[in-house]
Amino acid sequence: MSMIQVPYADFGKMHDPLRPALDAAWKRVMDREWFIAGEEDRAFEEAFAAWLGVKACVGVGNGLDALRLILMALDIGPGDEVLVPANTFIASALAVSYVGARPVLVDPDPETALITPAEAAKHITPRTKAVMVVQLYGRVADMDGFEALARDRNLILMEDAAQAHGATWRGRKAGTFGTAAGFSFYPGKNLGALGDAGAVVTDDPALARKVRALGNYGAYEKYHHELAGVNSRLDELQAALLTVKLAHLDAWMAERRRIAAVYEAEIRNGKIRLLRPDEGNGYHVFPVFCGERDALNRTLAEAGIHCQIHYPVPVHLQRAYADLGYHPGDFPAAEALAETELSLPLYPGMTEAQIAHVVDTLNRF
Ligand SMILES: *Cc1c(COP(=O)(O)O)cnc(C)c1O
Repeated sequence: MSMIQVPYADFGKMHDPLRPALDAAWKRVMDREWFIAGEEDRAFEEAFAAWLGVKACVGVGNGLDALRLILMALDIGPGDEVLVPANTFIASALAVSYVGARPVLVDPDPETALITPAEAAKHITPRTKAVMVVQLYGRVADMDGFEALARDRNLILMEDAAQAHGATWRGRKAGTFGTAAGFSFYPGKNLGALGDAGAVVTDDPALARKVRALGNYGAYEKYHHELAGVNSRLDELQAALLTVKLAHLDAWMAERRRIAAVYEAEIRNGKIRLLRPDEGNGYHVFPVFCGERDALNRTLAEAGIHCQIHYPVPVHLQRAYADLGYHPGDFPAAEALAETELSLPLYPGMTEAQIAHVVDTLNRF
């Protein structure tokens, strides 16, 4: 058995070279003694908005809150429906539930794992207020089509871009389409904090102001609560660390693409399917699909290669969503993806030997 170990991710490869800058960042916060929503937060928001090419960025507590604050700010609530993919991390749907609206699920295209405008259109009712496009795995959906759908059917278009830092659609970055987008900086994301963090991005400054107020107990002005808000702000420590890491994101994205290019060129096994190639892919997750997924996962684990499954249970089959009234078989594509998906290790700093070991083990399966 091979001695090469391949973890699913390796934070040290990213953080170790940045230790002096990361240490300086947290010391600066300690010295300044301002811990929430201050100068570091504003500096990161400006840097991230500039990197993305949007007018406004509001730092919030996490990615789930980014999505629910967008929905709150747009006055989406009880009686409203929001279209969400059936195959996503549960946060996309939970954000909708949080505001009292109903997540209406849409089956993905099995070739891309993304929802399409045509499939989404089938689920529009008079109650549909918005469509939340999830840029799953770092792949970007047909955003020209979704912009047209939103315009024609008078829907709000928003993105769950939690997995899509650095991904593009026809040259435009994920997170820049529609009314607003939510990002997560959960540690494992393409840009990760050293704890929980998230952001709302938008080209609408009034919406950004409202999101900021809603995340700060509904106050535009301290102790004057115009809205029934929540507490979801970006803390200074995470903002300072994120600013350091953001400067390296483009280089890390290039590494992700380099590793993925090897996987796409060299994985050759009739039992293993890849998704359709996507030029703008941000490669947050590199999924493969195999009818013998669990056996494949075991074989890889025995070879020292650690994979994950994104996600084993689609939203409509989660116990928490039993009350939506969906049944097994309602979203066949989402169910087939959940039963066969395996996410390969892919992270900045992965060595040629590690990449080759993954490819060899897959090809021999
Ligand atoms: C990570 C993630 C979220 C939630 O982000 P948190 O920061 O963990 O709250 C939302 N949607 C998707 C698709 C995600 O991958």
